Amino acid sequence: MNVQSLLRVNIRNLKPYATARHEFSGVAEVYLDANENPFRSDYNRYPDPNQKKLKEKISQLKNNDPGKIFLGNGSDEAIDLIIRAFCEPDNDAVLVTEPTYGMYAVCAAINNVAVKSVTLTPLFDLDEDAVLNAIAPTVKVIFLCSPNNPSGNLLSKEKIIRVLTHFNGIVVIDEAYIDFASDEGFLPVLHNYPNLIVLQTLSKAWGLAGLRLGMAFASAEIISILNKIKYPYNISSLTQQVVLEKLDAIEDKNKQVQQILAERSSLVNALQTLPLVKQVYPTDANFVLVKVTEARKVYNHLANHGIIVRDRSAVVLCEDCLRITVGTAEENRKLIDTLAKL
Ligand SMILES: *Cc1c(COP(=O)(O)O)cnc(C)c1O
Repeated sequence: MNVQSLLRVNIRNLKPYATARHEFSGVAEVYLDANENPFRSDYNRYPDPNQKKLKEKISQLKNNDPGKIFLGNGSDEAIDLIIRAFCEPDNDAVLVTEPTYGMYAVCAAINNVAVKSVTLTPLFDLDEDAVLNAIAPTVKVIFLCSPNNPSGNLLSKEKIIRVLTHFNGIVVIDEAYIDFASDEGFLPVLHNYPNLIVLQTLSKAWGLAGLRLGMAFASAEIISILNKIKYPYNISSLTQQVVLEKLDAIEDKNKQVQQILAERSSLVNALQTLPLVKQVYPTDANFVLVKVTEARKVYNHLANHGIIVRDRSAVVLCEDCLRITVGTAEENRKLIDTLAKL
């Protein structure tokens, strides 16, 4: 696979904007190069456009080279940039496996890129023959989500590898929920697949959704393309600083993940005893997909009692399904009590 030939021609030829801080990244006494306000405060200077310190930290944490890490304003930024780099508007397509995270199709639509959709199996695993059959020359990127949102399950590894090795384009594996999973995901084998991009985020297990930090891991070649087309200062100083501190608290993160996993299993057990619950799907994430009798009625009943869940009943394979995030013990108890009263 040749990454350069997969790229849109205008992106291949693009000369990126060079900021003042790209030209000079050392330490100086006087900075008169970026038209900043000279009066010192925490935020009068532009942030590091290369996020060097943060990438070094993440590279230790993930055991991956800093040159193979892209940082975005949420993983949503990476999704958009991947489509913009590889898909010619009004001509190319991305392939998604439904039901899945909605942003892949939305970002494609914003970029006037077509979306080919292949339905997962009834238990939400990859139908890899259907995926391989749907590949046309216009399909440049395949988005796979594992653990999958909204179903919660990991896609089968062997099936993902079959797609990775048979497709001559980019395969994105979105691992937003990998910290809750019984599997370590694809980061450890990233180097085996030159067409693979793994997405992770600090928005879920790390509890930092408000700071907006998403990560893409891929070959140095692919990462340099994403860096070339991102907004120069896409991660604010505040986010860079706070995330750097929070990443030291990995013990806290691990403890919270353990608590959420314990709560998840109590929640699943409690849900299964309720007459209105028809099926609780297996989950490797911090949420659970539940098939109920009359999802809309259940949703409204919960909302009337101040409890908001996600109604996924209009989504393919998810008829009468609600997606419920695992909350604190008290929140989960309220949910179960309220459901029991219906
Ligand atoms: C929540 C979620 C994300 C996270 O997006 P951010 O922009 O990093 O907050 C990415 N992918 C999936 C599948 C998600 O559910």
